[in-house]
Amino acid sequence: MPELPEVETVRRSLLPRVQGKTIEYVKVHTQKIIAPETVEHFEAVLKGQNIDTIKRLGKHLLFCLSDVTLLVHLRMEGKFYIEPSDVQKRKHEHVGVYFTDGSSMRFHDVRKFGTMRLKEHGDVYTTPPLSLLGKEPADPDFNGAYLKKRLNSIRAIKTALLDQHVVAGIGNIYADEILFCATIKPSRKAYRLSARACNRIAQCSKDILDKATALGGSSIRTYLSSVGITGKFQNQLNVHLREGKPCYKCGSIIKKVKLNGRGTYYCPTCQT
Ligand SMILES: [Zn+2]
Repeated sequence: MPELPEVETVRRSLLPRVQGKTIEYVKVHTQKIIAPETVEHFEAVLKGQNIDTIKRLGKHLLFCLSDVTLLVHLRMEGKFYIEPSDVQKRKHEHVGVYFTDGSSMRFHDVRKFGTMRLKEHGDVYTTPPLSLLGKEPADPDFNGAYLKKRLNSIRAIKTALLDQHVVAGIGNIYADEILFCATIKPSRKAYRLSARACNRIAQCSKDILDKATALGGSSIRTYLSSVGITGKFQNQLNVHLREGKPCYKCGSIIKKVKLNGRGTYYCPTCQT
């Protein structure tokens, strides 16, 4: 699943390709993606809208249009492609946005978990899902004290970090890497972490997401960024997907366990 660095990479690659364009018409092929809107209403609202800019919060993309915001979540495998309007609809294409300049933006999703929601501009940040998000690691108010307050559950720290209400934007890859950086075992109970441990997690979250974003995110397994952009952070992973290989720091063999159903990688020596 794309995490903050990958979604930010999608935003940066899409923006110069669609900013300022006017939507001539929209074709929805799969209503599930835009539910609970009806196809007729969704297509009618977007017709004639101009794309002013694209923003991002956590793993959400916000297409800021003339009169409304289109809120997009890529979930597991959602992808955008920019191509000429006369290119035929392909398998797994669910929504086509056709611009007046003869280009189009197509939304593909093999698993159909991606979502598109229409929002009034004034409601975007004050209503769910964005109103429920925790702070992003890059937020100036995201620090050890913020985490200490939010990590007050008996859940494993890895599970708590994946909760978008605690931190916005972290998924399975970066949670593993952040905990390796912070030298904390993923199964440690969140509420028992010291203030110092929370400080380390906060700093590592900032550092790792910054670095991953600068490298265009990670291109691994099922997720490849849209519009032909390939990330390079997968070459920097210390533990994620490195089961059975030696830790770069201490030489111990990296372990894989299941934590709340998620494959979790850690160094049994460096992380305690
Ligand atoms: Zn190690």
